[in-house]
Amino acid sequence: MTFSMVELIRAKRDGEALDDDALRWIISEFTADRIPDYQLSALLMAIIFKGMTPEELAPWTEAMLHSGEVLDLSGVQKPKVDKHSTGGVGDKISIPLVPIMAACGVAVPMISGRGLGHTGGTLDKLEAIPGFTTQIAPSDFEDQLNEIGVVMAGQTETLVPADRRIYALRDATGTVPSVPLISSSIMSKKLAEDLDGLLLDVKVGNGAFMKNLPDATTLASMMVAIGAAHDTPVTAVLTNMDQPLGTAVGNANEIAESIDVLKGGGPDDIVQITKLFATEMLLLAGTADRSSADADIERAITSGDAYDSFLQLVKHQGGDVAAIEDPSKLPSVSNVHVIQARNPGHLSRCNAYDIGIAAVRLGAGRAKKEDIVDPAVGIMVLAKVGDTVEEGQPLAEIWYREESRLQSALSVLDHTWGVSDVPIAAPRLILGDVR
Ligand code: URA
Repeated sequence: MTFSMVELIRAKRDGEALDDDALRWIISEFTADRIPDYQLSALLMAIIFKGMTPEELAPWTEAMLHSGEVLDLSGVQKPKVDKHSTGGVGDKISIPLVPIMAACGVAVPMISGRGLGHTGGTLDKLEAIPGFTTQIAPSDFEDQLNEIGVVMAGQTETLVPADRRIYALRDATGTVPSVPLISSSIMSKKLAEDLDGLLLDVKVGNGAFMKNLPDATTLASMMVAIGAAHDTPVTAVLTNMDQPLGTAVGNANEIAESIDVLKGGGPDDIVQITKLFATEMLLLAGTADRSSADADIERAITSGDAYDSFLQLVKHQGGDVAAIEDPSKLPSVSNVHVIQARNPGHLSRCNAYDIGIAAVRLGAGRAKKEDIVDPAVGIMVLAKVGDTVEEGQPLAEIWYREESRLQSALSVLDHTWGVSDVPIAAPRLILGDVR
């Protein structure tokens, strides 16, 4: 059956629901390069404004899922559980979390995304490790999982290609923040992984795509429902994204921070969320209960097993292990601009969205599909909401390569930090869950 794309765009623009056949046709024609980017972009923009009904979302997600191969991991003996975040700033949780899972005996066949809008992407971060490839053939997943327990890969021409293409287009056309587009993007990738369970980190706040708890809860419920329709148990945890997570925002600097966590250090918020998510994943895997999970996770970190799993992953995917053993060998820049507190008091605001945009302007993310990410640039966030700060105290360091990019980043950081005279409580990190 063929359709007129312009008619479908008009219909969606005017708030009509598209039928099953039309939605499946759009995904297959776009994946086959028979719908131009400008027409799909127009449709995506109409979806941003008019949304999708649950009856539209099901065939759309299904068509994305089957736009390429779906993994058959029945030969993997261990339980297979994955985690995905809806996108945040400084959100490197997957990088320490996945090796911890491997060290606890859970297989993680992770298909991740790149930076989207103002948020960072796990693939871009991993590719900051010299030589690391995220292009893993579907046929190699099972062997790698049986050998080392983890794969961290991207969508390819054969693995969820529809999401790879739509994702890149959404990034460059301001069409990311939509409940149906985010849920279909995430769930098409995750359902292609043949999982026994999935943990979702649904971010809420100015640095997230969902700015408030009701919208984030709708997104979480929608993804949990898509999982249930495919017999995949999904737990969604809602977490705060009003300020960046951890210290590092960028790519190579986030890898360095992840290594700290695997070695038993790292910023408190990253450690807390990593351990909570590890517990939830062990529960989904059925290999621990709430009382035994903590001990398993602590053992994985303190024994060095989780760190060793990360080294194995890096080696297996072509990365330079020397850069993990000595993070000073990760890509770096020597230009540093320091942002200082203008007055003393208590930090009341550290706007994650601004910092995400500034990082993209430095080159840590993409303004256009074709842009190449600079792995070395980024921002180090040195004070957290609730901290007491002195006048002149460094609030952040900007690691930059070009002066013009620094100026462009600084121009969005004028109102990013707030300092109050009265003490401020540290914000809650975990805001709820949907199961
Ligand atoms: N992560 C994804 O994989 N897709 C989105 O749309 C947002 C976050």
